[in-house]
Amino acid sequence: MQKTKQIFFKTDEEVECIRENCLIVSKALALVASLIKPGITGAYLDNEAETLIRDLKSEPGFKGLYGFPATLCISVNEGVVHGIPTKQEFKDGDVVSIDCGSKWNGFYGDAAYTFALGNVSEPVMELLSVTKTALYKGIEQAVHGKRVGDIGFAIQQYCEREHGYGVVRELVGHGLGRSMHEAPEVPNYGRRGRGVLLKDGLVIAIEPMINLGKRDVVQSEDGWTIITKDRKPSAHYEHTVVVRKNKADILSNHDLIEEQIKNNPEINEIFAKN
Ligand code: MG
Ligand code: MG
Repeated sequence: MQKTKQIFFKTDEEVECIRENCLIVSKALALVASLIKPGITGAYLDNEAETLIRDLKSEPGFKGLYGFPATLCISVNEGVVHGIPTKQEFKDGDVVSIDCGSKWNGFYGDAAYTFALGNVSEPVMELLSVTKTALYKGIEQAVHGKRVGDIGFAIQQYCEREHGYGVVRELVGHGLGRSMHEAPEVPNYGRRGRGVLLKDGLVIAIEPMINLGKRDVVQSEDGWTIITKDRKPSAHYEHTVVVRKNKADILSNHDLIEEQIKNNPEINEIFAKN
């Protein structure tokens, strides 16, 4: 992916614009959370999400970006990220990563959530819980004065060392603003105290992509979807945050999604660990 090398720190006004985009994304994912179940197709969800985003006077952030054809990236089971919505119905036991972007007023927003449909096996539920927890471990490090490597280290340490999962190397989080993907890259692996210095006003998307098996990924035949090489399931959670002193401000909103999951009997709640 092409990325600008320059790091842009955002004014408070720009941050509010990005927050608005992230709220639109969160509303679209909340709508998805209310609709998704076995028997539903990704193509249907994509259409619903696009309609909502346009009703909110925004534009889908991914559609047309690098030529991507849809509003949502939908990656099922061994799908890691960048899956194209299809007319194939979801099945009981599927885990479905859904990533969404918005573009409004010259800025972007970005967030993702992995949904567990029906009878998902215990090891896969654990993968989702650990991946969601890892996201917050990364966010804890996104404070003024730390470095990008601190975020990656926290995520890698927790997922790889403590849980034995595969941390995807080829795909990373990113700066975000007037472009969906800006500098710096935010890997989910790294060394403490290394990499770009995090400063107040830096907006980044943190998005652990964690595999139940090995870390290796390959591109599927559709030319877009990234899948695990060993075909074992993968999980993905993402927030856009702004680096602040003492504590990052999370601009996207998973609570809206989780309120809908609570009301959707076919979707399992995913709990972060203490
Ligand atoms: Mg995303
Ligand atoms: Mg992203």
